[in-house]
Amino acid sequence: MIILGSTGSIGVNALDVCERFGIGIELLAAGSNVALLNSQIKKFNPKFVCLFDSSKANEIESCGAEVFVSNDGLLEALSKTSGKKVLNAIVGFAGLSATLESIRLGKEVALANKESLVAAGKFIDPSKIIPVDSEHFALWYLNKGGSISKMVITASGGALRDAPLSMIYASTVSDVLKHPNWTMGRKITVDSATMVNKLFEIIEAYWLFGDSLKYDAIIETSSTIHAMIEFRDGVTTAQMSEPDMRLPISYAINGEAVPNLFRPVDILGLGSLEFRTIDAARYPAWRLKEELLAYPSSALVLNAANEIGVEAFLDERIAFGRVAEIIFESYDKYSSLEPKSIDDVFLIDSEVRGYARALIKT
Ligand code: NAD
Ligand code: MG
Repeated sequence: MIILGSTGSIGVNALDVCERFGIGIELLAAGSNVALLNSQIKKFNPKFVCLFDSSKANEIESCGAEVFVSNDGLLEALSKTSGKKVLNAIVGFAGLSATLESIRLGKEVALANKESLVAAGKFIDPSKIIPVDSEHFALWYLNKGGSISKMVITASGGALRDAPLSMIYASTVSDVLKHPNWTMGRKITVDSATMVNKLFEIIEAYWLFGDSLKYDAIIETSSTIHAMIEFRDGVTTAQMSEPDMRLPISYAINGEAVPNLFRPVDILGLGSLEFRTIDAARYPAWRLKEELLAYPSSALVLNAANEIGVEAFLDERIAFGRVAEIIFESYDKYSSLEPKSIDDVFLIDSEVRGYARALIKT
């Protein structure tokens, strides 16, 4: 197995799943957490390792693995692997080139890096992708083809779902990182609080399941129901399971759940479920949903502006509420640009980032 982003929340869960299935590791790649990468190397004994942050290359304890650094190094390491499946759990647009290269090398991609599809879905063959996202796993699980009219994914509502509306704009980093149901990386936790994560997932579903269906999202506060499918005959089915990413990861890696790891949902323990509509007063970015579905390639602009905004918020350079404003200002300027090639995707991404950075400076 090839694990990219091995030191992150998904990466660590993926290694746990591989260990439980007894699946060996061929390549481990991480961003900059060399201490955790070193302990993973010791434990899983990969043939190849890669660290994005080349300034820490001399700290890698390779234990005989061939060492690569930087993104070019990652692409080279991928080309040396023989495994047919890659789990891409790198965060952000930085994961796109590894998705593209893995597909070009004839590999299947278990894709946690949803930003790949958000930014470049038009140029990615969905038959090469197995999504590692709880909602898309749920949709896949429920999908029996035929008479589907609508796919509905659920949101937890994120850390600010119960905050007074007047407090949201100025929420602090620690407020925003307190996710009610999931433990995840920092960026996706912020994306949950802004509801941008759900916009991403709607676009992800669009590229995976096609343009003939309707897509929507609602809040289900316990994150027990992950998605629902509405059929034309009036039946709605729902997928329920504990919020544990190892379930979708298990299926993506090995086509089945790890035996004896997952328990059925304790329905009586839950008592009841609470559903809410996604309110644009609380989640301003949600206003982009219909336009994104009408022009899915424009999600590239959303993604780039969001990445710059979230980074600045996490560095405490801008207020939380400014993230959505930066998205809107960038989207208004660039959303009509239609990428005609994958090179255009990289060009537009970099143009939007420059614009969003300038917005932050002023
Ligand atoms: P995280 O921040 O915990 O981990 C990110 C990983 O990527 C780390 O290993 C980091 O070292 C690595 N990384 C960062 N930049 C890199 C680069 N340039 N090159 C190589 N490696 C790099 O994030 P996460 O929560 O694990 O999320 C990873 C991806 O999975 C994101 O796209 C996220 O949206 C998606 N996802 C996460 C969850 C979840 O439960 N955490 C659920 C669904 C989807
Ligand atoms: Mg998800």
